[in-house]
Amino acid sequence: MSQTLVVKIGTSSLKRASNGQLALPTIASLVETLTDLHREGDRIVLVSSGAVGVGCARLDLKERPRSMALKQAIAAVGQGRLIRIYDDFFSSLAQPIAQVLLTRRDLIERSSYVNAYNTFQALLELGVIPIVNENDTVAVDELKFGDNDTLAARVASMLEADWLFLLTDVDRLYSADPRVVPDAKPIERVNDRELDRLEIATGSSTTQWGTGGMMTKLNAARIATSAGVRTVITGGQKPANIQKILQGQAIGTQFEPRSTKIDTARKRWIVHGLEPMGKLYLDEGAKVAICQGGKSLLAAGIVGIEGKFNASDAISLCDRKTVEIARGIANYNSSEIEKIKGMRSEKISSLLGYAGAETVVHRDNLVLVRPDRGIELT
Ligand code: GLU
Repeated sequence: MSQTLVVKIGTSSLKRASNGQLALPTIASLVETLTDLHREGDRIVLVSSGAVGVGCARLDLKERPRSMALKQAIAAVGQGRLIRIYDDFFSSLAQPIAQVLLTRRDLIERSSYVNAYNTFQALLELGVIPIVNENDTVAVDELKFGDNDTLAARVASMLEADWLFLLTDVDRLYSADPRVVPDAKPIERVNDRELDRLEIATGSSTTQWGTGGMMTKLNAARIATSAGVRTVITGGQKPANIQKILQGQAIGTQFEPRSTKIDTARKRWIVHGLEPMGKLYLDEGAKVAICQGGKSLLAAGIVGIEGKFNASDAISLCDRKTVEIARGIANYNSSEIEKIKGMRSEKISSLLGYAGAETVVHRDNLVLVRPDRGIELT
């Protein structure tokens, strides 16, 4: 059966630890594995870091630059080299590739999200393996994915991939840092409840998993599994293991996907393309109306608000116990909602001094989130 696979490889796996040069055997094995899988009928997307690392090597810089402009300039040097290297390797196996550079904005704006989605579909239809990276040269802080684990998870969610492989410099997760705790247990499988607990475990400074690297991987696993994508963290030195994992071998750490049933592309974008910028807390009546009655959110049902956001931003709707029950797009900004919360809709125009939408979140822009069963529409 044809599957969609998103494979992310980090700079640490692409470079040799000893001298910082490219790890050619790893790249060759990755390229061979992905080409084989593609020939067997799978749809493959590769998310590759390395632009800054390769750029530094090209310019003979011994240290990673700190200044933003320099980093962006070096990424521009490195990205071209990186794609050239991939093209050489993939071309020797007659496999066409494409370069896709994305910023966060490209998935936030609905029209560019749809465009990116259609372009990926067209590339996959053409039998191409797209190679994705963040568009480091133009991305600005607030519109950055920040790391390629998150980028890969967002792409996998958008494409409704079956698998996300995060290839990294550890072979799998352990219950603690195996270098410090000798009886640290390897973790083979994690379901979504355990994933939440693992995040707490990584908060401890006594484990190496508390580093940004592993935290972002767990975060990526959370994004992807909540979109129904099975996610694996495994060693980047042996890309051929991807095939073994697909055949059922227990290599790496595998995160079980949640079951999701989001039936419209617009609602998928709300959940997987957008980041919630704030929270609204709802009373019991609003919760029932939304969860069971298929209704929009009205100002009257809002008891609390958290965060500063604009109209048209995504927000989380939570019950009084702070459990997220839905995501949606706000019709009002946070200071407007502060003024109208708890009030009947007829009062909105006198409270704000202008007439706005009758609903705070319209049903068409609202997706239910079931903490026990993932994201699901009723
Ligand atoms: N986009 C960055 C690069 O290509 C890497 C980001 C990351 O490693 O997460 O150098």
